Amino acid sequence: MSKPIVENLVIIGSGPAGYTSAIYAARANLKPVVFEGFQAGGLPGGQLMTTTEVENFPGFPEGITGPQLMDRMKAQAERWGAELYTEDAIAVDLSQRPFTVRSEEREVRTHSIVIATGATAKRLGLPSEHEFWSRGISACAICDGATPIFHGAELAVIGGGDSAAEESVYLTKYGSRVHMLVRTEKMRASKAMQDRVLNNPKITVHWNSQPVDVVGESDRMMGVKLQNTQTGEESVLPVKGLFYAIGHKPNTSLFEGQLELDEVGYVVTKPGSVETSVEGVFAAGDVQDHEFRQAITAAGTGCMAAMLAERWLSVNGLIQEYRQQIHTSEDADTPADAPGDKVAEINPEEAFNPQATRHEGGYALRKLYHNSDRLLMVKYVSPNCGPCHTLKPILNKVVDEFDGKIHFVEIDISEDREIAENAGVTGTPTVQFFKNKELVGEMKGVKQKSQFRQMIEQYM
Ligand SMILES: Cc1cc2nc3c(=O)[nH]c(=O)nc-3n(C[C@H](O)[C@H](O)[C@H](O)COP(=O)(O)OP(=O)(O)OC[C@H]3O[C@@H](n4cnc5c(N)ncnc54)[C@H](O)[C@@H]3O)c2cc1C
Repeated sequence: MSKPIVENLVIIGSGPAGYTSAIYAARANLKPVVFEGFQAGGLPGGQLMTTTEVENFPGFPEGITGPQLMDRMKAQAERWGAELYTEDAIAVDLSQRPFTVRSEEREVRTHSIVIATGATAKRLGLPSEHEFWSRGISACAICDGATPIFHGAELAVIGGGDSAAEESVYLTKYGSRVHMLVRTEKMRASKAMQDRVLNNPKITVHWNSQPVDVVGESDRMMGVKLQNTQTGEESVLPVKGLFYAIGHKPNTSLFEGQLELDEVGYVVTKPGSVETSVEGVFAAGDVQDHEFRQAITAAGTGCMAAMLAERWLSVNGLIQEYRQQIHTSEDADTPADAPGDKVAEINPEEAFNPQATRHEGGYALRKLYHNSDRLLMVKYVSPNCGPCHTLKPILNKVVDEFDGKIHFVEIDISEDREIAENAGVTGTPTVQFFKNKELVGEMKGVKQKSQFRQMIEQYM
């Protein structure tokens, strides 16, 4: 089956919402295309890539690290045939059908879209914030409050809205005292929430108090430096934890003016659903949720979005089904953006085109090693190799820059073990450069684009 001109579904974002949508849509034979993101709105894998232990995601009684959890979700999406691109969506056009989603590398037309671009917790930019982030400072009380370092300790919450009030009350379960730092002489929180705070004997509200820095010793936060907004007087409040509750910024700039957003920028969805104001466009996860903001709720709404997208495509007679070819976990590292059809068995001999820049597998490597008059760049990868994932978008960009001038072959060393042995590959990722059958250079691990560029230019 040749690649369709119009995709069934494009998913933007690769946090728990995006990957869950991808898993459900791929299992429904929709072969979704996923823009995982690269730099916009956080990391590929989403907010959990920046945390250590996740203790509240069901199914992991001993806990799991955020990056491990996201790697598993990604592998599951790949296993069912989702087509993943580690690229930012830089433009979206919802004014015409099919919709268009564009990255720097490609433009994709699609009948439906799931927006799963998440939200970014606002930071204050205090001078020592970076040093103590995750070492006392957190943007999620529900996620981090139960951490042993906060047990029985004095804690502080910054903010005067409902979230700050709620988080202060929540943290009294763990801290010996919770200090709520409010910049003015009144809270923005609802009357009911204010009552809960003011009537709680474990909470002290500091009015007109604004943090100006944090202080600590050997990577451990010891206190927050406060300034009185009325008098300018400074003092240090000794606390071991500082929780930011100053709001989130939903990653929705791409959609401004194209669908309904609320006054803060969250995508507005129909009550109890994930449908947006544009038919065929669904929003899942933190990008439409200013209340719960948890991995499990993001995953839940991701599932809803995929199921509703499938229903919508089906009702409108737009669905194009793809027969599944289930990938094993060993396939997880094969290039998701490899050219060609994912369903039909490809005969490497027939598929080989010496004019093309990108190739995969032993057959292409042998042919090009013997016959190519271009610089031959060979990337060796292995399944479940984290750095291989990181290197992929970096190298993709460089290879695109030299399109038609080099040959690039990707070798999965678990499939082409003999080739890897002969090439003396001892770890992945490894990139080797050949010119006229001679090895002229080798780079191991993840390197900067400029280093690959330099090597190519030197030998091209
Ligand atoms: C430090 C920290 C710890 C946390 N700990 C927990 C916890 O223990 N348990 C828990 O349940 N929750 C936790 N959370 C909350 C949880 O991480 C979020 O609720 C969840 O990740 C939201 O998922 P999401 O898929 O909606 O969005 P995100 O995880 O924010 O993912 C958004 C995705 O969109 C992508 N993106 C953004 N813009 C673009 C674009 N233009 N093009 C392409 N892609 C784009 C990003 O790259 C990213 O992949 C924590 C959050 C933080 C910050």
